[in-house]
Formats: sequence, C-alpha cells, structure tokens
Amino acid sequence: MTTQTILVTGGAGFIGSHTCVALAEAGYEPLILDNLGNSDRRVIGRLERIIGKAPRLIVGDVRDRALLDRVFRETPISGVIHFAGLKAVGDSVADPITYYDNNVNGSFVLAAAMHAAGVQTLIFSSSATVYGDPDRSPIPETAALRPANPYGHSKRMVEQALADLQHAHPAWRIALLRYFNPVGAHESGLIGEHPQGKPNNLMPFVSQVAVGLRERLAVHGGDYPTPDGTGVRDYVHVMDLAEGHVAALRHAEKQPGLTTLNLGTGHGASVLEVVKAFERASGQPIAYDVGPRRPGDVPAYWGDPTLAEATLGWRARRGLDQMCADSWRWQQGNPNGYE
Ligand code: NAD
Ligand code: UDP
Repeated sequence: MTTQTILVTGGAGFIGSHTCVALAEAGYEPLILDNLGNSDRRVIGRLERIIGKAPRLIVGDVRDRALLDRVFRETPISGVIHFAGLKAVGDSVADPITYYDNNVNGSFVLAAAMHAAGVQTLIFSSSATVYGDPDRSPIPETAALRPANPYGHSKRMVEQALADLQHAHPAWRIALLRYFNPVGAHESGLIGEHPQGKPNNLMPFVSQVAVGLRERLAVHGGDYPTPDGTGVRDYVHVMDLAEGHVAALRHAEKQPGLTTLNLGTGHGASVLEVVKAFERASGQPIAYDVGPRRPGDVPAYWGDPTLAEATLGWRARRGLDQMCADSWRWQQGNPNGYE
C-alpha cells in the first residue's frame, strides 16, 4: 500500500507539530504548509528526531491560491488537516479584519483549492470558544453557539461555510473539531508550545514561572462561583488531541459526511489545581497573586466528549499530572523554545 500524504496547514505550530507525530505513527506522510508567522522552522529537525524522517515543509500562506494549486498538482494529497490560523482572542478584538482574513478567508481559499483539485477530506481546527458563555457544563455539541469575540466568530463562520459546502457537495468528508484547552507537550520533550512574548495562556505562563523566566503568576480572579474561586477549564493533552485528529481522519475515510465533535476530557480543573499539579510535576514552587478577573473570561466550562468517543472510539487518556510533567520537560529542556 502506498503511504497517504496529508497536507497539514499550520503544521509547524503547537498542535500541528504534535499531530504530524501522530500522523507518522499511524502510517501517514505529513506535508506541512506554514507561513512560520507563529512558529519556527527548526521544529522540522525535532520532528525528524521523533519520527525518524523529516517531514517536508512548504513555507507559504494558506491564502496563496496559486501556491495551493501547485501543491495539489504536484503531490497526490488524500486529505487536509487545517490548523493554520491566528488564535489570540485579544488581538482579534483589536484587529478583527486581520483575523477574518487569516482565519475565514484562508479557510475559503483552501476549500476552493481543494474543490478544484478534487481533494474532499478536511479536518478543521475549531474551538470551544464557539460556545461563548455556555448555559451548562459539560457542553454538548448541540449547545447554542454564541461566540463572544472576533476569533470565536471566525471559527463559527468557517464551521458554517464548511457545513454548507458539504451540504452542496455530499461527497465531501469534513470533521469540525472543537478543542477545549490544549496543553502539554510530546513526551520526548523535543517539541512543545513556545509563545512569542508574554504568554496569554495559563499553562505556558505557569511553566515559565517554574523555570524562572517569570517571577509570579497573576491569577485572573479568585471570586468566581467555583470551588476555589478561580476559573475552571477543560485542559486536554496535546498528544491526545493529536491522536483525535488521526481518529477523525480515519472516520472521514470511512464515509462522506460532516461530523462536529468536542475534543476535551470531560473534566474541569481550576487555576489553582493547575498550579498545584505543576508544582508536583516540577518540584518548583509557583509564586502567584490572586488579582482581578480578566475581562471577557467565562467562569467555568468543560466539554462533553461522549460523542467523540462514540463516533471515533477516541478518548483523552492523559491526565493533568502528565500534562504538567510533559510541559515541564519541554520547558526545562527548551527555555527559549527552538533557539
Ligand atoms: P499555533 O499558532 O502554534 O499554530 C498555528 C500555525 O499556523 C503557526 O505555525 C502559524 O505560523 C501558522 N499560520 C497562521 N496563519 C497562517 C497562514 N495564513 N498561512 C500559513 N500558515 C499560517 O497555534 P495552535 O495552538 O497550534 O493552534 C492551531 C489551530 O487550532 C488554530 O487554528 C487555532 O485557532 C486552533 N485552536 C487552538 C487552541 C489553543 O488553545 N491552542 C484552542 C482551540 C483551537
Ligand atoms: N489565567 C490566569 N492567569 C494567566 C492566564 C490565565 O489566571 O496568566 C486563567 C484564566 O483566567 C482562565 C484559565 O486560566 O480561567 C485559562 O486561561 P487560558 O488563557 O489559558 O485559556 P482560555 O481562557 O482561553 O480558556
């Protein structure tokens, strides 16, 4: 059997690079297309050490139709996993047009190029942010979609467009995957998340405090209606997420259709629970101050992963302690990312 090539847009980034590992382990050949706007080409050498072979990287933009046409013409591609996008909520509020152009227009250009090339299998990175402030947790996929910022709207708009596309062309095989909070790193410690500048997200911030790059964590709010007053989220190990993409791809290969799934653990953890777990994993104290709430934050939510398990046979297997241990291994070995 010939190896199937999967085009991984944004494959040099955090979730994309880990998914390349899971793809290679499952016998696929990942082909990365990334403009390196939020990633580092040195990830390729790290992937080579993990997989045993360097994946091909095409440096380019997903909005470049001529480039996409050339890629589809030159390489037989059996499916696409589309990670390429911008993800900082605050930036999306400040500069919505850039976000809609990158995330929405980028997805449209990709889908049109796929359509022209006859490639009809697409796995799309959506986000739990499409739910906004949900009425209840765990959140099922049927919950109302009420994104609260341009980033969330951009994901919802692409979901809608892809559903319309699949409706018009029923041979398409599309999975919309709504991730909860991806954290952790590959267990080798060779690849992981390295945000540019000051991290917005909790786990990278905590690990930078643990390694001594930052002094103290600011806990954004201690007066939420949660057991310890701090915000609760559904943290999911990035390798579980990566394996979820492979499972979604295999499912899509079986039959045409549109599938929308939550990828989360089904459990929430508070900010202070994450801090304690990271202290256990690293052996380092994490200094923190409880400060005011962060504007726009939702107090607590976590996903219902029942449908993902029933549909894909996939379930998150790695717990919070492993998420912290793997983040710590990556952070300690690579305090400056891939430099
Ligand atoms: P990331 O920034 O590490 O990876 C995204 C990659 O896409 C980067 O390597 C970047 O250089 C590339 N990219 C961006 N725009 C591009 C373009 N126009 N053309 C080509 N490449 C482009 O982010 P990530 O955490 O790996 O997220 C991957 C996807 O998952 C994104 O679509 C994001 O919105 C979505 N998502 C992420 C989270 C999260 O918390 N990390 C949660 C839910 C959904
Ligand atoms: N958080 C925090 N301090 C930080 C970053 C995040 O207390 O420096 C909290 C945040 O308020 C939320 C949780 O950690 O309750 C997860 O935040 P993150 O930004 O990682 O994810 P998201 O808000 O997108 O779910």
